[in-house]
Amino acid sequence: MLEPSKNANPINGKDGLAHDPREPASDASPLRHDWESGEVLALLTSPLLDLVDQARAVHRRCHSQADVQLASLLSIKTGACPEDCKYCPQSAHYAKETGLEREALLDVDDVLAEARAARQAGATRFCMGAAWREVKDGAAFDSVLAMVKGVRALDMEACVTLGMLTEAQAGRLALAGLTAYNHNLDTSPEFYGEIITTRSYQDRLNTLARVRHAGIEVCCGGIIGMGESVQDRARLLQTLANLDPHPESVPINTLVAVPGTPLEDQPPVDPLDLVRMVAAARIMMPLARVRLSAGRRNLTREAQILCLLAGANSIFYGDRLLTTANNETADDLALIEDAGLRVQPAKV
Ligand code: SF4
Repeated sequence: MLEPSKNANPINGKDGLAHDPREPASDASPLRHDWESGEVLALLTSPLLDLVDQARAVHRRCHSQADVQLASLLSIKTGACPEDCKYCPQSAHYAKETGLEREALLDVDDVLAEARAARQAGATRFCMGAAWREVKDGAAFDSVLAMVKGVRALDMEACVTLGMLTEAQAGRLALAGLTAYNHNLDTSPEFYGEIITTRSYQDRLNTLARVRHAGIEVCCGGIIGMGESVQDRARLLQTLANLDPHPESVPINTLVAVPGTPLEDQPPVDPLDLVRMVAAARIMMPLARVRLSAGRRNLTREAQILCLLAGANSIFYGDRLLTTANNETADDLALIEDAGLRVQPAKV
Protein backbone atom coordinates (compact mmCIF):
# COMPACT_ATOMS: atom_id res chain seq x y z
CA MET A 1 0.00 0.00 0.00
CA LEU A 2 1.04 3.59 -0.50
CA GLU A 3 1.75 4.99 2.89
CA PRO A 4 0.39 8.52 3.08
CA SER A 5 2.95 11.23 3.61
CA LYS A 6 3.31 11.95 7.30
CA ASN A 7 3.00 15.68 7.02
CA ALA A 8 0.33 15.84 4.40
CA ASN A 9 -2.74 17.64 5.55
CA PRO A 10 -5.89 17.76 3.44
CA ILE A 11 -7.23 14.27 2.90
CA ASN A 12 -8.30 14.84 -0.68
CA GLY A 13 -5.71 13.02 -2.70
CA LYS A 14 -3.41 16.04 -2.96
CA ASP A 15 -0.10 16.39 -1.15
CA GLY A 16 0.96 12.86 -1.95
CA LEU A 17 -2.00 11.24 -0.27
CA ALA A 18 -3.60 8.22 -1.74
CA HIS A 19 -7.29 7.65 -2.17
CA ASP A 20 -9.25 4.79 -3.60
CA PRO A 21 -9.10 5.10 -7.37
CA ARG A 22 -12.51 3.41 -7.54
CA GLU A 23 -14.05 6.22 -5.55
CA PRO A 24 -12.99 9.77 -6.32
CA ALA A 25 -12.17 11.73 -3.22
CA SER A 26 -14.78 14.25 -2.21
CA ASP A 27 -14.31 17.42 -0.22
CA ALA A 28 -11.12 17.92 1.67
CA SER A 29 -11.21 17.70 5.43
CA PRO A 30 -8.22 19.06 7.26
CA LEU A 31 -6.44 16.91 9.81
CA ARG A 32 -7.64 18.26 13.13
CA HIS A 33 -5.91 18.58 16.47
CA ASP A 34 -8.56 20.66 18.22
CA TRP A 35 -11.22 18.12 19.09
CA GLU A 36 -13.57 19.01 21.92
CA SER A 37 -14.60 16.16 24.21
CA GLY A 38 -18.31 16.86 23.52
CA GLU A 39 -17.76 16.36 19.79
CA VAL A 40 -16.00 13.05 20.38
CA LEU A 41 -18.74 11.93 22.74
CA ALA A 42 -21.32 12.82 20.08
CA LEU A 43 -19.39 10.69 17.58
CA LEU A 44 -19.13 7.72 19.94
CA THR A 45 -22.82 7.83 20.75
CA SER A 46 -24.15 8.52 17.26
CA PRO A 47 -26.27 5.89 15.49
CA LEU A 48 -23.91 2.99 14.84
CA LEU A 49 -24.37 2.64 11.12
CA ASP A 50 -24.08 6.40 10.55
CA LEU A 51 -20.81 6.32 12.47
CA VAL A 52 -19.53 3.35 10.46
CA ASP A 53 -20.58 5.05 7.19
CA GLN A 54 -18.66 8.17 8.11
CA ALA A 55 -15.58 6.19 9.13
CA ARG A 56 -15.76 4.10 5.98
CA ALA A 57 -15.83 7.22 3.81
CA VAL A 58 -12.74 8.61 5.54
CA HIS A 59 -10.98 5.29 5.25
CA ARG A 60 -11.62 4.95 1.54
CA ARG A 61 -10.41 8.48 0.89
CA CYS A 62 -7.18 8.03 2.81
CA HIS A 63 -6.07 4.47 2.22
CA SER A 64 -5.47 3.42 -1.32
CA GLN A 65 -5.71 -0.32 -0.91
CA ALA A 66 -8.03 -2.46 1.13
CA ASP A 67 -5.06 -3.94 2.92
CA VAL A 68 -4.55 -5.18 6.44
CA GLN A 69 -1.12 -5.13 8.02
CA LEU A 70 -0.17 -8.20 10.03
CA ALA A 71 1.91 -7.24 13.04
CA SER A 72 3.49 -9.82 15.33
CA LEU A 73 4.25 -9.10 18.95
CA LEU A 74 6.85 -10.85 21.09
CA SER A 75 7.54 -10.45 24.77
CA ILE A 76 11.32 -10.14 24.89
CA LYS A 77 11.44 -9.76 28.67
CA THR A 78 8.50 -11.07 30.64
CA GLY A 79 7.20 -10.36 34.13
CA ALA A 80 8.38 -8.64 37.32
CA CYS A 81 7.47 -5.17 36.08
CA PRO A 82 7.54 -2.62 38.92
CA GLU A 83 4.54 -0.74 37.51
CA ASP A 84 1.07 -1.51 38.87
CA CYS A 85 -1.15 -1.41 35.74
CA LYS A 86 -4.27 -3.16 37.02
CA TYR A 87 -4.92 -5.01 33.76
CA CYS A 88 -1.46 -6.47 33.42
CA PRO A 89 -0.36 -9.97 34.49
CA GLN A 90 3.26 -8.89 34.11
CA SER A 91 3.10 -6.48 37.03
CA ALA A 92 5.18 -7.63 40.00
CA HIS A 93 2.37 -6.30 42.22
CA TYR A 94 0.09 -9.20 41.23
CA ALA A 95 2.71 -11.91 40.58
CA LYS A 96 1.61 -13.96 43.59
CA GLU A 97 -1.98 -14.06 42.30
CA THR A 98 -1.22 -14.50 38.59
CA GLY A 99 1.67 -16.92 39.11
CA LEU A 100 3.44 -15.42 36.12
CA GLU A 101 7.14 -16.29 36.26
CA ARG A 102 9.81 -13.70 35.61
CA GLU A 103 11.89 -14.41 32.52
CA ALA A 104 15.23 -12.92 31.52
CA LEU A 105 15.69 -10.85 28.37
CA LEU A 106 15.68 -13.14 25.35
CA ASP A 107 18.82 -13.58 23.27
CA VAL A 108 19.11 -11.44 20.17
CA ASP A 109 19.41 -14.51 17.92
CA ASP A 110 16.26 -16.07 19.37
CA VAL A 111 14.31 -12.87 18.85
CA LEU A 112 15.49 -12.59 15.27
CA ALA A 113 14.53 -16.20 14.63
CA GLU A 114 11.01 -15.31 15.81
CA ALA A 115 11.00 -12.25 13.56
CA ARG A 116 12.01 -14.35 10.56
CA ALA A 117 9.24 -16.84 11.34
CA ALA A 118 6.72 -13.99 11.63
CA ARG A 119 7.88 -12.59 8.30
CA GLN A 120 7.59 -16.01 6.73
CA ALA A 121 4.02 -16.22 8.03
CA GLY A 122 3.15 -12.88 6.43
CA ALA A 123 3.81 -10.25 9.10
CA THR A 124 5.40 -6.99 7.96
CA ARG A 125 5.77 -5.45 11.39
CA PHE A 126 7.52 -7.00 14.37
CA CYS A 127 6.86 -5.55 17.80
CA MET A 128 8.93 -6.35 20.87
CA GLY A 129 7.80 -5.68 24.41
CA ALA A 130 9.89 -5.60 27.58
CA ALA A 131 8.20 -5.41 30.99
CA TRP A 132 10.31 -2.50 32.18
CA ARG A 133 9.29 0.69 33.95
CA GLU A 134 11.95 2.52 31.97
CA VAL A 135 14.90 1.87 29.75
CA LYS A 136 18.26 1.59 31.54
CA ASP A 137 21.48 2.05 29.61
CA GLY A 138 23.65 -1.05 29.58
CA ALA A 139 23.87 -4.52 28.09
CA ALA A 140 20.10 -5.13 27.99
CA PHE A 141 19.41 -1.93 26.06
CA ASP A 142 22.34 -2.69 23.74
CA SER A 143 20.71 -6.05 23.01
CA VAL A 144 17.41 -4.35 22.22
CA LEU A 145 19.22 -2.04 19.79
CA ALA A 146 20.72 -5.10 18.10
CA MET A 147 17.23 -6.66 17.88
CA VAL A 148 15.89 -3.50 16.24
CA LYS A 149 18.73 -3.48 13.71
CA GLY A 150 18.20 -7.16 12.99
CA VAL A 151 14.46 -6.76 12.42
CA ARG A 152 15.01 -3.79 10.12
CA ALA A 153 17.55 -5.84 8.17
CA LEU A 154 14.69 -8.26 7.44
CA ASP A 155 12.86 -5.36 5.80
CA MET A 156 10.21 -5.44 8.48
CA GLU A 157 8.93 -2.49 10.46
CA ALA A 158 10.31 -2.64 14.00
CA CYS A 159 8.37 -1.39 17.02
CA VAL A 160 9.37 -1.66 20.67
CA THR A 161 7.63 -0.95 23.94
CA LEU A 162 10.11 -0.53 26.77
CA GLY A 163 8.50 1.94 29.17
CA MET A 164 9.81 5.45 29.76
CA LEU A 165 12.96 6.60 28.05
CA THR A 166 15.28 9.59 27.86
CA GLU A 167 15.94 11.76 24.81
CA ALA A 168 19.36 10.14 24.39
CA GLN A 169 17.85 6.66 24.45
CA ALA A 170 15.19 7.67 21.93
CA GLY A 171 17.99 8.99 19.74
CA ARG A 172 19.86 5.68 19.94
CA LEU A 173 16.70 3.78 18.99
CA ALA A 174 16.22 6.11 16.03
CA LEU A 175 19.81 5.52 14.93
CA ALA A 176 19.23 1.77 15.15
CA GLY A 177 16.44 2.26 12.62
CA LEU A 178 13.43 1.82 14.90
CA THR A 179 10.19 2.43 13.00
CA ALA A 180 7.87 3.09 15.92
CA TYR A 181 7.76 3.24 19.69
CA ASN A 182 4.67 1.96 21.46
CA HIS A 183 3.58 3.74 24.60
CA ASN A 184 -0.16 3.57 25.25
CA LEU A 185 -2.12 6.21 27.12
CA ASP A 186 -4.49 3.38 28.09
CA THR A 187 -7.47 5.57 29.08
CA SER A 188 -8.58 9.12 29.84
CA PRO A 189 -6.51 11.45 32.03
CA GLU A 190 -9.37 11.40 34.54
CA PHE A 191 -9.66 7.59 34.84
CA TYR A 192 -5.94 6.88 34.59
CA GLY A 193 -5.35 7.02 38.36
CA GLU A 194 -7.88 4.20 38.84
CA ILE A 195 -5.72 1.92 36.71
CA ILE A 196 -2.11 2.95 37.33
CA THR A 197 -0.61 4.74 40.30
CA THR A 198 3.12 4.23 39.75
CA ARG A 199 3.47 6.78 36.95
CA SER A 200 1.41 9.71 35.77
CA TYR A 201 -0.40 10.54 32.55
CA GLN A 202 2.07 13.36 32.09
CA ASP A 203 4.95 10.86 32.29
CA ARG A 204 3.35 9.06 29.37
CA LEU A 205 2.94 12.25 27.37
CA ASN A 206 6.54 13.25 28.09
CA THR A 207 7.83 9.93 26.75
CA LEU A 208 5.69 10.28 23.64
CA ALA A 209 7.14 13.76 23.06
CA ARG A 210 10.68 12.36 23.30
CA VAL A 211 9.85 9.63 20.81
CA ARG A 212 8.40 12.16 18.40
CA HIS A 213 11.34 14.51 18.86
CA ALA A 214 13.74 11.70 17.94
CA GLY A 215 11.92 11.22 14.64
CA ILE A 216 10.43 7.85 15.55
CA GLU A 217 6.81 7.11 14.68
CA VAL A 218 4.41 7.05 17.59
CA CYS A 219 2.29 4.00 18.33
CA CYS A 220 -0.22 4.96 21.01
CA GLY A 221 -3.68 3.76 21.88
CA GLY A 222 -5.70 2.44 24.75
CA ILE A 223 -7.86 -0.23 26.31
CA ILE A 224 -11.60 -0.38 26.73
CA GLY A 225 -13.46 -2.53 29.22
CA MET A 226 -11.58 -1.50 32.38
CA GLY A 227 -14.66 0.09 34.00
CA GLU A 228 -14.27 3.44 32.27
CA SER A 229 -17.24 5.53 31.11
CA VAL A 230 -18.00 6.48 27.53
CA GLN A 231 -16.81 9.97 28.49
CA ASP A 232 -13.43 8.45 29.39
CA ARG A 233 -13.27 6.76 26.00
CA ALA A 234 -14.04 10.08 24.35
CA ARG A 235 -11.31 11.80 26.37
CA LEU A 236 -8.79 9.13 25.41
CA LEU A 237 -9.55 9.62 21.71
CA GLN A 238 -9.54 13.38 22.15
CA THR A 239 -6.08 13.26 23.76
CA LEU A 240 -4.72 11.02 21.00
CA ALA A 241 -6.18 13.04 18.14
CA ASN A 242 -5.04 16.34 19.62
CA LEU A 243 -1.43 15.19 19.50
CA ASP A 244 0.19 16.99 16.58
CA PRO A 245 1.10 15.11 14.47
CA HIS A 246 -1.31 12.26 15.14
CA PRO A 247 0.14 8.91 16.18
CA GLU A 248 0.91 6.91 13.05
CA SER A 249 -0.34 3.79 14.80
CA VAL A 250 -3.33 3.51 17.14
CA PRO A 251 -3.88 0.14 18.81
CA ILE A 252 -7.36 -0.29 20.26
CA ASN A 253 -7.40 -3.04 22.86
CA THR A 254 -10.24 -4.63 24.76
CA LEU A 255 -9.44 -5.82 28.23
CA VAL A 256 -8.32 -9.41 28.58
CA ALA A 257 -9.42 -10.01 32.16
CA VAL A 258 -6.54 -12.18 33.35
CA PRO A 259 -7.20 -14.15 36.57
CA GLY A 260 -5.18 -12.76 39.45
CA THR A 261 -5.14 -9.18 38.17
CA PRO A 262 -7.32 -6.57 39.93
CA LEU A 263 -9.52 -6.35 36.81
CA GLU A 264 -10.16 -10.10 36.60
CA ASP A 265 -13.90 -9.69 37.24
CA GLN A 266 -14.58 -6.97 34.70
CA PRO A 267 -17.49 -7.94 32.44
CA PRO A 268 -16.68 -8.42 28.75
CA VAL A 269 -16.91 -5.44 26.44
CA ASP A 270 -19.80 -5.20 23.99
CA PRO A 271 -18.07 -5.74 20.63
CA LEU A 272 -20.12 -2.90 19.17
CA ASP A 273 -18.37 -0.55 21.61
CA LEU A 274 -15.10 -1.62 20.03
CA VAL A 275 -16.55 -0.93 16.57
CA ARG A 276 -17.49 2.54 17.78
CA MET A 277 -13.97 3.19 19.10
CA VAL A 278 -12.39 2.02 15.85
CA ALA A 279 -14.75 4.13 13.75
CA ALA A 280 -14.19 7.25 15.84
CA ALA A 281 -10.41 6.72 15.76
CA ARG A 282 -10.56 6.37 11.97
CA ILE A 283 -12.55 9.60 11.61
CA MET A 284 -10.35 11.57 14.00
CA MET A 285 -6.97 10.21 12.87
CA PRO A 286 -7.59 9.48 9.19
CA LEU A 287 -4.07 8.46 8.23
CA ALA A 288 -3.21 6.24 11.19
CA ARG A 289 -3.00 2.48 11.15
CA VAL A 290 -5.80 1.58 13.52
CA ARG A 291 -4.89 -1.77 15.01
CA LEU A 292 -7.17 -4.43 16.46
CA SER A 293 -5.09 -5.58 19.38
CA ALA A 294 -5.65 -7.46 22.64
CA GLY A 295 -9.03 -9.04 23.17
CA ARG A 296 -9.66 -9.92 19.52
CA ARG A 297 -9.88 -13.58 20.50
CA ASN A 298 -13.21 -12.88 22.16
CA LEU A 299 -14.72 -11.42 18.99
CA THR A 300 -16.76 -13.30 16.44
CA ARG A 301 -15.66 -13.22 12.83
CA GLU A 302 -18.56 -10.89 12.10
CA ALA A 303 -17.52 -8.44 14.80
CA GLN A 304 -13.96 -8.43 13.49
CA ILE A 305 -15.18 -7.75 9.96
CA LEU A 306 -17.33 -4.90 11.26
CA CYS A 307 -14.18 -3.43 12.86
CA LEU A 308 -12.33 -3.76 9.55
CA LEU A 309 -15.25 -2.10 7.80
CA ALA A 310 -15.14 0.73 10.33
CA GLY A 311 -11.51 1.48 9.53
CA ALA A 312 -9.24 -0.95 11.36
CA ASN A 313 -6.41 -1.85 9.02
CA SER A 314 -4.06 -3.95 11.07
CA ILE A 315 -4.32 -6.94 13.36
CA PHE A 316 -1.89 -8.49 15.78
CA TYR A 317 -1.02 -11.83 14.34
CA GLY A 318 0.59 -14.88 15.88
CA ASP A 319 -0.06 -17.40 18.61
CA ARG A 320 0.56 -15.06 21.51
CA LEU A 321 0.18 -11.42 22.42
CA LEU A 322 2.89 -10.90 25.03
CA THR A 323 1.57 -13.31 27.68
CA THR A 324 -1.98 -14.03 26.51
CA ALA A 325 -3.25 -16.28 23.73
CA ASN A 326 -4.19 -14.81 20.37
CA ASN A 327 -6.26 -15.94 17.39
CA GLU A 328 -5.06 -18.76 15.16
CA THR A 329 -3.06 -17.46 12.20
CA ALA A 330 -4.90 -19.66 9.69
CA ASP A 331 -8.22 -18.26 10.96
CA ASP A 332 -6.93 -14.72 10.56
CA LEU A 333 -5.81 -15.27 6.99
CA ALA A 334 -9.16 -16.86 6.15
CA LEU A 335 -11.00 -13.95 7.77
CA ILE A 336 -9.10 -11.37 5.71
CA GLU A 337 -9.74 -13.29 2.53
CA ASP A 338 -13.42 -13.81 3.32
CA ALA A 339 -13.78 -10.09 3.98
CA GLY A 340 -12.41 -9.40 0.48
CA LEU A 341 -9.35 -7.66 1.87
CA ARG A 342 -5.70 -8.43 1.31
CA VAL A 343 -2.71 -8.77 3.57
CA GLN A 344 -0.25 -5.91 3.22
CA PRO A 345 2.52 -7.43 1.11
CA ALA A 346 6.08 -7.63 2.35
CA LYS A 347 8.59 -5.27 0.76
CA VAL A 348 10.39 -6.84 -2.14
S1 SF4 B 1 4.25 -1.06 32.32
FE1 SF4 B 1 3.66 -2.60 30.81
S2 SF4 B 1 4.54 -4.53 31.54
FE2 SF4 B 1 4.62 -3.09 33.26
S3 SF4 B 1 2.73 -3.51 34.43
FE3 SF4 B 1 2.26 -1.83 33.00
S4 SF4 B 1 1.46 -2.82 31.15
FE4 SF4 B 1 2.48 -4.42 32.39
